[in-house]
Parts: sequence; structure tokens; C-alpha cells
Amino acid sequence: MTELLLNHVAGRWQAGTGQGATLRDPVKGQSLVRVDATGLDLAEAFAFSRDTGGAGLRALRYGQRARMLACVAELLQSRRDAYYDISMANAGTVRADTAVDVDGAIYTLGQYAKWGAALGDARCLADGDTVSLARDAAFQSRHVQVPTRGLALFINAFNFPAWGLWEKAAPALLSGVPVIVKPATATAWLTQAMVRDVVEAGLLPPGALSVVCGASTGLLDQLLPMDVLSFTGSAETAALIRGHAAVSRHSVRCNIEADSLNSALLMPGQGPDSAGFGLLVREVVREMTVKSGQKCTAIRRVLVPEALYGEVAQAVSAQLAGAVVGNPRNAAVTMGSLVSRAQHDAVQTGIAALGEQAELLYDGRGQALVDADPAVAACVRPVLLGTRHAQGSDLAQRVHDTEVFGPVATLVPYRDLDHGLALAHRGQGALVASLYGEHAQEMADAALELAASHGRVHVVSPEVARTHTGHGNVMPQSLHGGPGRAGGGAELGGLRALDFYHRRAAVQAAAAVASALPAG
Ligand code: NAP
Repeated sequence: MTELLLNHVAGRWQAGTGQGATLRDPVKGQSLVRVDATGLDLAEAFAFSRDTGGAGLRALRYGQRARMLACVAELLQSRRDAYYDISMANAGTVRADTAVDVDGAIYTLGQYAKWGAALGDARCLADGDTVSLARDAAFQSRHVQVPTRGLALFINAFNFPAWGLWEKAAPALLSGVPVIVKPATATAWLTQAMVRDVVEAGLLPPGALSVVCGASTGLLDQLLPMDVLSFTGSAETAALIRGHAAVSRHSVRCNIEADSLNSALLMPGQGPDSAGFGLLVREVVREMTVKSGQKCTAIRRVLVPEALYGEVAQAVSAQLAGAVVGNPRNAAVTMGSLVSRAQHDAVQTGIAALGEQAELLYDGRGQALVDADPAVAACVRPVLLGTRHAQGSDLAQRVHDTEVFGPVATLVPYRDLDHGLALAHRGQGALVASLYGEHAQEMADAALELAASHGRVHVVSPEVARTHTGHGNVMPQSLHGGPGRAGGGAELGGLRALDFYHRRAAVQAAAAVASALPAG
């Protein structure tokens, strides 16, 4: 029998009482560990988190909580090798892909530790200036932001078991709000291991961080009005969450990060020898292959001038052919596997669906895997599709609304820039779009145009060829989230992330009272 991972709730390590689910190595297919949340006393768990965890965190100031985050980052850094091993075994990732998750988590924690330190001894966050409500300034209004007196429940996706936890927990804990995380079952091991290490090291007040591994049954029923809920996953599950009775009855504040049809656009006038062309091709290949395309921010649609369709297809295909796909334990392998056989099958189904409205331009699937059995491993070689003509780009609706969560992208030719931008908007709200070209004003105008339906616009020109942070990399300094089908969420963006975990209130009072409020 494989080891059962324990849940940590109500300040205790607790085993589920059911059969649970088995986590597998997606390359070899063998069982690794089990998770189970059956029979947990969730009412006790949530009350302990809110009351004990919340009180313990709120007894500290921002600066003290920031030091806590720095200690967590240091601890995770010291255990990094163990996390890399878990990731390779449970998520099938090569080292470079694990780094995006594990090192990305540690970096994000470090940034919040730094920004939080600057808040020092503050007890709340100031929000704008004091304004007078009367002619003589005797009666004033001042806004404050105070930490919510509830907990933060995170229901996370399978693709970032480390970063997905800490990019949310860092601003929550810094705000003084306790966290209960429910990782996606397929890759829950890494999240559980990190929580275990941090709890065992006693770095956080009791109840500040809890983990429930297994099915989400009953979790949402426990939510109360001051709690906040952060969900990352598919649009289908997001819709269920929004419609949940406890969420609507208590107006629970929700942040939803869902799927997204991100695009990369080559600006008009960038020929095959231009810098923009080369930068776009490199980025598309990187986005299709990093984490085997299992990034919510990965490029799914590649928008190019119609006349360059063939050249871009050729250049991207040539580079995709260089991907060495298979067992991440083999040093020659550059691209590991998807997280599960279920995802493997979902990607095949998605490619077939896109293939009904787009042509196959590069299909690596016939080629052999390195050190992996194609009947067992969840490895998928990259696939590039294309809509051939600008008119086809308009007609191929699936390309604009079907997210295939793997190493798959579609080349979408456009007539002119207006058409290209309109096609980008067809994603109905996305996390990120990137632009490749050379003319600053044209790209600034295009970025503003795309900002209406994208949480982030990543602009790549020759002067940032070496230094830009990558289309799909989510940097804690910048907003992460997008409107519409991307879920309407807003995470990160420096200290802006703290808004979600604070309640804003206006205090109306005499000048003496208003000025006695903490300066924030
Ligand atoms: P999913 O099936 O929606 O699952 C996400 C999480 O929800 C998992 O923890 C899952 O638990 C849980 N869940 C499933 N059904 C639920 C229900 N009825 N009530 C409450 N929780 C429920 O999504 P996924 O397949 O894991 O993730 C892939 C998707 O996530 C992709 O579409 C991707 O674009 C999106 N994503 C978005 C972002 C972003 O920041 N925007 C980041 C990463 C991923 P179990 O695992 O136990 O079923």
C-alpha cells in the first residue's frame, strides 16, 4: 500500500478515513502516494483557521509577517532538491520546468517579504487622503483597509503545485489572513510536502496554514461572509464555484483564474529577416514546450500577417522538431510529460477538435519518445495547427474558444493590424497577449488597444530581446489575471495583491478622530 499523505487542519495532522486517490508517476505509470480528505471535521478545521490562525496573524504587524515570509522562502530554498524530486516523479517535469514552479514560488515569496518589510509597523493600509465632508473641515472622511476577519480558501489547479500555493499565500499571510489550501489531486504531493515542512518548522502561528488533500467535497459549504475564495482551474469548475449556495448566500469574495486563449502577435512590416520575426518564433516555441504547454499563460494563438503564414509555420516547425520529449530522468530530454494520462487524452481530443477547423502544420506525435513507453507515459510531442487564410481565422471559432492544455498552438493569419487585434479580442478576455515588432509608438498603441481584454500585455522589441521576462512568465511585480473567460481575477501586481485580503471602510469623524487613525 502506498503512503497516505496527511491533511493538516485544526492544528493537527489528520488522515482521511476513506480509500482516497492514488497519485501516479505520469511517465512510468506507477503509484506514488495516496491522498484522502474523507471524514475530516471541516467545521472545526475552518473555525480553527479563522479564530486561532487569524488572531495569531493579526497580532503581528506587516513587517513581522514579512519576516515570516522571508523565513518560509529560506526554508523552501533549503529543501529545494527534495521538491525537484517530487515534481519530477509526480508531474513528469524536466528541471527547467520544475524551476518555473518551485523557484518561481520562492522568488515570489521573497518579493513579498521585501515589499512587506517596507510596510513596517503599520496595523492597516492607508487608502487615499483625508477629505472634508463639511465646509469647515470639521467633519472628515478617511478610508482604511483592514485585513479581513475570515480565512482564505485556495482551490488550486494541477499545473503549479508550488507557485500556485505561494503566489496566493504570500499576499494572504502578509495581509494577516490564514490560508486553507486544497491542491489539485493529481499533483497534491508537492503542495503537501511544502506545507508540511513549513508547519513542522513552526514558522507560522498555529492555524495560519492548513492543507486538505483529496476531493473538495464540503469545503465550499464551510465558507462564511468574511472569508475569501481563490479558485484556479477550468472555466467549467469556475462556473460551479460561482454558483455555489454558500458563495452567493454570503457574498463570499471570489478570485477566479480560469482558462485563457492567449495570443502572440507579430506586428505588420516585420519580414522573415526582422528581429520581431525571430523573437516571435523563439517565444512561441518556448511557450509550447515549457511545462509541455501546461501554463495558463501559454501562447495558444499566433497572429501573423497573412503573407508570412508559410514562413512562420516553417520556422516554428523547425524549432519544434528540436524538442526531445520523454522521461525527464534522461539528461537528453528537454520536454517531459503532461501531469496525467487523463490530460494526455484530453489534449488528443482537443487537437482533434481544433483539427476540424484548422490544418496540421507540424505534428510531432508520430515520433518516438525517449525512455518512455507511449502506451503508458503522458508525454505528447508538440503540435502546430493553422487556419491558412485570414478569412479562415475569422471562421475557425474553435481556435478562439478551445483551450488545449498542452504543447499545442494555432497559427492565425490576419489581414491588417486592426484585424489582428480584433482576432486577439476574440479570446473573450485573456491573461496575456504579446506583441513583437520595432516601432515604439505603434506597439504602445496596440498594447493600449489590447489592454481592454487582457490582464497583461507583453511587448517585445529588439532592445529587450535578452532581458524581457517571457510571455508566459508571471512576475509578482505585474498583474496576473484577465477579464471575461480568463475568470475576471486579479492577483499579484506587487502590493495590489493585498487588496483582495483587506476590507475597505470609510471612517467619517471629527478631524481629531480622523487624524488619530493609524497612518497606514
Ligand atoms: P479543474 O478540473 O477545474 O480543477 C481545479 C481545482 O478544482 C482542483 O483542485 C479540483 O480538485 C477542484 N475541483 C474540481 N471540481 C470541483 C468542484 N465541483 N468544486 C470545487 N472544487 C473542484 O482544473 P484543472 O484541470 O486542474 O486545471 C487546468 C485548468 O486550470 C486549465 O484550464 C488552465 O488554464 C487553468 N489554470 C488557470 C490558471 C490561471 O492563473 N488563470 C493557472 C493554472 C491553471 P481535484 O483535482 O481534486 O478534482
